[in-house]
Amino acid sequence: LRNEMIRNEKSEVISQLAASIAHEVRNPLTTTSGVIQLLLKDEVKDEEKRKELLKLAKQELKQAESVISDYLLVARPYQNKVETLSIDEILYRSIEIIRPMANMNNINIVSELENNCYVTGEVQKLHQSFLNLIKNGIEAMPNGGTLTVKCKIIKGQSKVQITIADTGIGMSKHQIECIGDPYYSTKENGTGLGMMVVYRIIEGMGGKIKVYSELEKGTEFKILLPQTD
Ligand code: ADP
Ligand code: MG
Repeated sequence: LRNEMIRNEKSEVISQLAASIAHEVRNPLTTTSGVIQLLLKDEVKDEEKRKELLKLAKQELKQAESVISDYLLVARPYQNKVETLSIDEILYRSIEIIRPMANMNNINIVSELENNCYVTGEVQKLHQSFLNLIKNGIEAMPNGGTLTVKCKIIKGQSKVQITIADTGIGMSKHQIECIGDPYYSTKENGTGLGMMVVYRIIEGMGGKIKVYSELEKGTEFKILLPQTD
């Protein structure tokens, strides 16, 4: 019964969150739809004004897209099966997906992926967590830098350790305290959902996240997950 109560509570939190996220997506869609309607009526004659409206619509659509991409995979909690996952393979795939974005931003990716780092979980959720962390790392280095991605087995403890580090802008103490709170973002067009999703997924797998960060030096996330043989 106790377990069931906890589970009910959890799914309630998830559905509340889903509702508030739907709201986050609906707002920009409403704005965009308004803009299109205005332009269709052909009442805005000024070319500058038309361009401004189109820019606004584009920005709003991008915002909706970010909310979805930071959150989407967790919003479908019952679709995936729990299985043995190879962390090194998932990290490798995440790096390949993000590489074009890194290249565009003059970011060098260094990876040290030990083979056979196995854990138990849902592949899409873990993949989403890694992408959210790596994306934040890249966004923290607007003038280029190095992104380091590692995984290894900590033998004595039967844990897999994942490190994702950047040489970017870093975080203040206050930022470190707030990271993972829903909608906490210091970015102009941030969602503040990415880290919340990461914490939820990793803690849901019985894992822990440690953050080491220094302003103007960079940030390191260390994740410990229970190892599966
Ligand atoms: P978003 O990226 O949309 O802002 P996140 O939940 O992914 O939302 O991150 C929340 C906040 O945590 C960011 O706005 C930023 O202030 C901080 N943050 C996360 N990762 C890093 C990082 N690697 N370097 C510096 N700040 C970070
Ligand atoms: Mg983010």
